[in-house]
Amino acid sequence: MQYNRILLKLSGEALMGEQQYGIDANRLMQYATEVKSVADLGVQVAVVIGGGNIFRGVQAEQVGLDRVQGDYMGMLATVINSMALQSALEKLGASTRLLSGFSIQQVCEPYVRRRALRHLEKGRVVIFGAGIGSPYFTTDSAASLRAVEIEADVVLKGTRVDGIYTADPEKDPTATRYPRISFDDVMEKNLKVMDMTAFTLCKENNLPIIVFDMNTPGNLERLMAGEDLGTLVTM
Ligand code: UDP
Repeated sequence: MQYNRILLKLSGEALMGEQQYGIDANRLMQYATEVKSVADLGVQVAVVIGGGNIFRGVQAEQVGLDRVQGDYMGMLATVINSMALQSALEKLGASTRLLSGFSIQQVCEPYVRRRALRHLEKGRVVIFGAGIGSPYFTTDSAASLRAVEIEADVVLKGTRVDGIYTADPEKDPTATRYPRISFDDVMEKNLKVMDMTAFTLCKENNLPIIVFDMNTPGNLERLMAGEDLGTLVTM
């Protein structure tokens, strides 16, 4: 396998599938199947899933609520998605643990780095819920931070686009995909990979990022086999 330990970042929004809100059962099972298939290959898998399909902190301000309160609501949304993914993985027979960035002990273990490492070593899929547990961050930042902490080999950002393009491929038909790009070029060209906090954390810790299309079945396994998919961001 190309990688021994990975951190997979999934967006909450992608979980909606064709729906306008919430969790699409087929999409959820598809993601769980992908994750289990690579765990079965012996790859140590950690997952961070967003909450955008349910609630984002910025929405709070739009309806006159407090931003920090909204961010905690967003973090709770990630716990809901994480619980759904955990359940779907277990349905497929995978062994899993859900670790939360804030205390919610009836449904999650607290995030303790050493415990996360132990679970991974034992072959359990580790899901990190509640982001980093602090407002004003995103789940991309949580993905980068946890990946650095657990010494993952790579952050895999699963999206609906198959990599980083010269322009938005959904708007500009002439846009072309970068198979590989450096951290510096991403910054220089002002390309959107992750938010700056998340991106900088990866850059400063020399942690490669792969942006790839998570909605094509088998892609995660192809990446593990070393296939040249999506866009690899490295030094
Ligand atoms: N959030 C937060 N701290 C974190 C992670 C998430 O405050 O460490 C909140 C934030 O309000 C964010 C929401 O949780 O908007 C949902 O996460 P995100 O927007 O990253 O989800 P995605 O866009 O990946 O679905």
